[in-house]
Amino acid sequence: MENNKEMRAWLDDLNLNHPLVIAGPCSAETEEQVLKIAHELKDTDVSYFRAGIWKPRTRPGMFEGVGALGLKWLQKVKEETGMKVCTEVANAAHVKLALEHDIDLLWIGARSTVSPFIMQEIADALEGTDKPVLIKNPVNPDLALWLGGIERIYKSGVQNIGAIHRGFSTYAKTKFRNTPEWQLAIEFQNKFPDIPLINDPSHITGKRDMIMEVSQEALDLNFDGLMIETHYDPENAWSDAAQQVTPETLVQIMVDLKIRKEGSSEEDYNKTLNTLRAQIDVVDNQIIELLGKRMEAADGIGALKKTKNVAVLQNKRWNEILGKMVIEGEQHGLSEEFILRMFKAVHQESINHQEKIING
Ligand code: PEP
Ligand code: MN
Repeated sequence: MENNKEMRAWLDDLNLNHPLVIAGPCSAETEEQVLKIAHELKDTDVSYFRAGIWKPRTRPGMFEGVGALGLKWLQKVKEETGMKVCTEVANAAHVKLALEHDIDLLWIGARSTVSPFIMQEIADALEGTDKPVLIKNPVNPDLALWLGGIERIYKSGVQNIGAIHRGFSTYAKTKFRNTPEWQLAIEFQNKFPDIPLINDPSHITGKRDMIMEVSQEALDLNFDGLMIETHYDPENAWSDAAQQVTPETLVQIMVDLKIRKEGSSEEDYNKTLNTLRAQIDVVDNQIIELLGKRMEAADGIGALKKTKNVAVLQNKRWNEILGKMVIEGEQHGLSEEFILRMFKAVHQESINHQEKIING
């Protein structure tokens, strides 16, 4: 699959002067709920109304969606509000039903993108459709798997493609429900600049209070749009209650977001930007050089330990270094989380160097 401008035609054709907004409840619950939310979103920046009707839940027995019945409610949303509608599909039967009901856009969930068999099944069922299909990232941070999934859909003749970045599962608890791993999204954009990339701050944060900051970060990184779960009574939602916002809050978020353009022709702007970029390039080279030096020292230590037959890992010393670096980092405006991550990576590389020397 090669980058191809046609992939974003469906988005460009909307002619929006703001990022694409997809909003609506995590789950369709009742006909009344779906229509009430849709009416509250109708005169906003929302282009596509979302509602999940087949819900992939972690445990059996949780609310698993209303099923095909919800497609009729989405059709009603179209008739009554004029908004386009979308839902998640997770197998060939879902695709068939959604297309039969003229759902305007389909998305594939994170738990489906991980499975090449499911992706192929969905791709075959979608063959040749002109509806846009958005592929969420897989639950694990594997760019190749995400791209492979997109490629399966693209190869079955789906021209209108997009991707949704919804963050990645981790064992360790962080402030995110699914950590964003922004680097991976940036790499995605570098490889496929013309695949529309939508951010899903709802599933990244898991908390409505954090939706604004993550949305802003996404727009600053040139994302093409946002998918935000919206419910008139978020606390009593049947799924993902903690992360949904009211239509009112959604509108406020759209007002507060700073929408920065991808570039600007103003000379001053370009000059300053180029200067700052050049500075970054210089510092990056210095970082590499210094890391190289650090590893040379590690090699020396490896050689020394070899003569004395001492173990590579000296836990006490390592914890001392980490503690010092966290304090040092704070003084330079670097977060503890970043320092720990960075030094763990540096340390691992040091260990690899020493191992190589000690084991020949
Ligand atoms: C959803 O959008 O409601 C959903 C189930 O998302 P994800 O696939 O990202 O978990
Ligand atoms: Mn959800």
